Amino acid sequence: MSQAGAPRGGPLKKSVDEDEALIFETTPGVDVVPTFDSMGLKDELLRGVYNYGFEKPSAIQQRAIVPIVKERDVIAQAQSGTGKTSLISMAVCQIVDTKLREVQALIMSPTRELATQTQKVILAMGDHLNIQAHACIGGTSLGEDIRKLEYGVHVVSGTPGRVYDMIKRQTLRTRAIKILILDEADEMLSRGFKDQIYDVYRYLPPELQVVLVSATMPHDVLEMTSKFMTDPVRIMVKRDELTLEGIKQFFVAVEREEWKFDTLCDLYDTLTITQAVIFVNTKRKVDWLTEKMRGNNFTVSSMHGDMPQKERDAIMNEFRGGSTRVLITTDVWARGLDVQQVSLVINYDLPNNRELYIHRIGRSGRFGRKGVAINFVRSDDIRILRDIEQYYSTQIDEMPMNVADLI
Ligand code: ADP
Ligand code: MG
Repeated sequence: MSQAGAPRGGPLKKSVDEDEALIFETTPGVDVVPTFDSMGLKDELLRGVYNYGFEKPSAIQQRAIVPIVKERDVIAQAQSGTGKTSLISMAVCQIVDTKLREVQALIMSPTRELATQTQKVILAMGDHLNIQAHACIGGTSLGEDIRKLEYGVHVVSGTPGRVYDMIKRQTLRTRAIKILILDEADEMLSRGFKDQIYDVYRYLPPELQVVLVSATMPHDVLEMTSKFMTDPVRIMVKRDELTLEGIKQFFVAVEREEWKFDTLCDLYDTLTITQAVIFVNTKRKVDWLTEKMRGNNFTVSSMHGDMPQKERDAIMNEFRGGSTRVLITTDVWARGLDVQQVSLVINYDLPNNRELYIHRIGRSGRFGRKGVAINFVRSDDIRILRDIEQYYSTQIDEMPMNVADLI
């Protein structure tokens, strides 16, 4: 399928993976705190976080939690799935003083489901702290809301309409609120919710700390923030875009599957000039090819998702350290691998989709080195190769005899 006008090696929508190359734009002075233990959080909260199943803070959590806890206004922007909503819960659990039975943190979210989910995460993580959190959302009994709020809670996670209603009724008392957090802030500050947010905001104490968390931050929203935020810390995360620029791409017409192996053996000396990664499409094939290469006295290492983590780490460390030179693997590890460091990639099997192709051989725009990619192409693969070529507006030539000189 032709994609005329597609940018050269342009970005594709990617799924979320913390190990992928990330670019941060942050306000100067934002520290990276690599563990929950070193964030200065309460022991009871740490227990709650670990019990919840988190072991290590995500990239945005490593940067955003501490400034929030230190009472700074914060704008945190990162793609969905990077741990933004979770970091709200952790920060809130740290901030509230449970001895004071008043609402101290107000979180607003655009949907009832999200507001409820956040409340549940706070209850779970704040379990050992005895944090009382209430979901103040439309579509539920007013009486129940009133009862809960009058009983006294530390945190309210709600949707704007119901929260405003409760404030006007003076059931939700705002005098002890220290922090206002808007999750999905781009949506909260867009037309639909903006007025309601301001209505709520007017009732909150003047020394309020404000935190915005969002996947996108349109310019007009960002401008608006100057009205209710003070010298905010900004933490923006972008995924590094992969590009095929600077990668020389070749194909070898092996015609039939059975002939791939001999082709690989012929290339072995070329592989070991620096380091090479060989991609196949299944774990079984990783094992099969590894055995077969070793059976022919070639030194290779291999890795796939069925191996225990310890073993995978050891194999990766050896490879990164350079003590192994040829690694056979599957796509599962294309993202986590620093493929940028590898100057030769062999697609023993063509990837199953175009996106995987750029993940296997693309380099990140800023940090990448140049490199060579060689695709083994059976007769029935030629169409796939041409499709990839067209899709990325790139060129994949027949491998020249002197390929070793290009690495
Ligand atoms: P976002 O709000 O950026 O979309 P979430 O906070 O909803 O991201 O997190 C997405 C998923 O990742 C959730 O299932 C969440 O429980 C999980 N998650 C978030 N942070 C961590 C972490 N540090 N360790 C493990 N899982 C995490
Ligand atoms: Mg979220």
